Amino acid sequence: MTEIAVLGAGMAGFGAAHRLHTAGARATLYEKRAHYGGHTASYRFDGGFTFDEGPHVSFTQDERIQGLFAENVRHDYQTLTTRVNNYWKGYWIKHPAQCNLYGLPQDLVVKVLRDFIEAQYRENGDVRNYRDWLIASYGPTFAETFPMEYGLKYHTTTADNMTTDWLGPRLYRPALEEVLSGALSPKTPDVHYISHFRYPSRNGFVSYLEPFVTQTQIRLNHEVMGIDPKVQELRFRNGMRARYDYLISSLPLPELIPMIAGTPADVLDAAERLACTTAVIVSLGINRPDLIDAHWTYFYDRDIFFTRVSTPHLQSPHNVPPGTGSLQVECYYSQKYRPLDRTPEQCIEPVIRDLKHCGVLREDDRILFQHAMLIPYANVIFDLDRPAAVATVQGYLEDVGILTCGRYGEWGYLWTDEAFKSGERAAQSVLDGP
Ligand SMILES: Cc1cc2nc3c(=O)[nH]c(=O)nc-3n(C[C@H](O)[C@H](O)[C@H](O)COP(=O)(O)OP(=O)(O)OC[C@H]3O[C@@H](n4cnc5c(N)ncnc54)[C@H](O)[C@@H]3O)c2cc1C
Repeated sequence: MTEIAVLGAGMAGFGAAHRLHTAGARATLYEKRAHYGGHTASYRFDGGFTFDEGPHVSFTQDERIQGLFAENVRHDYQTLTTRVNNYWKGYWIKHPAQCNLYGLPQDLVVKVLRDFIEAQYRENGDVRNYRDWLIASYGPTFAETFPMEYGLKYHTTTADNMTTDWLGPRLYRPALEEVLSGALSPKTPDVHYISHFRYPSRNGFVSYLEPFVTQTQIRLNHEVMGIDPKVQELRFRNGMRARYDYLISSLPLPELIPMIAGTPADVLDAAERLACTTAVIVSLGINRPDLIDAHWTYFYDRDIFFTRVSTPHLQSPHNVPPGTGSLQVECYYSQKYRPLDRTPEQCIEPVIRDLKHCGVLREDDRILFQHAMLIPYANVIFDLDRPAAVATVQGYLEDVGILTCGRYGEWGYLWTDEAFKSGERAAQSVLDGP
């Protein structure tokens, strides 16, 4: 019997397992935690508050994935028109800020417009990094006031230390007319790249995965500690061992590489150079629902403790008890650039303090629930070290016959649908054979 081992029971692991199941092949999914879902796990806490592992919504444009997820929740999902805004020095600005300058200080708007117009007509030299890209796209005033400040909080490193290959549709490049209209009027069209999203009505985002669980053998509490590619064997923390004919891993590359017996020093060095943010997610249940009228808000100011705030009760009313609201707050660190200097629980107090400072929470609000969780691997940092380090690591994995998939196996900026499809592709390589 051919043994196909899939490491990690998140979106990518389930993508691989589902593809294999559809083709009639048998796989075993090994997961270190006591539950499945990876970053798309959801937790129902005492008091009736449901939170995901960081805010998750599905905005896939892929109709096949839309259909698959819809069937998995028996078509019981919410479809919402995305509302996103920004907070900067006391101003609430519709997203994206570059098309919604109306109401900001006049001298700032004048400088942004002057720079933006100049940027339209200037010959740009080589775009060597994200900073160059921002200045070429928006001019220096906007670039330095908004995306560079946000980027420093979110990516934990400066824009001149980042590549641009992750951008895709993430930063909107408006026409001059859109910038001018948004400076003159508060009424602007919605141009966010996520116009709509879906979210399961009940039990959180992880519901999208539930029917897949019956399709595969899942071994929970199986943390892989060692991989011997010569004898094709896995070793687990719980003392178990398992052999494999094919191995698909969605584990973070910096964790996977040191587990492999005989990895050369240059590959170990490359894996160490891969940088990722670590997130502390503070989840709060509040005694009223009218907190922020947006599904998520970006916070630019350095002196505000957090980077992004979401409102799970607006994703589905079943995420909270009736008459209450909830906030999920993201704070970013990284081992390489901004090491975490406190426990996750110690983030709760400054988060609440700054939510009050911004007017999201009122002094008389009652906090019905509070919780902090650590996500050691959140967003891959596209720093200048990444391309060469990924190439070295991927080349070695090919040599030792390990297929990788998912956000942390590809070491990219993959959303849930992309992680799932990445797992499917890895499974297809197994099905196609050597
Ligand atoms: C804060 C945040 C918000 C996000 N919001 C969205 C969103 O709104 N929409 C969207 O589409 N995407 C969102 N994403 C991206 C999304 O979470 C990922 O694309 C997707 O969940 C990645 O799935 P994965 O299977 O590749 O990785 P993971 O979910 O990390 O799965 C890897 C699995 O491997 C397991 N594992 C690790 N080490 C071992 C080991 N040694 N042995 C065994 N198992 C191990 C882990 O426990 C985990 O279950 C968000 C990400 C973050 C961080």
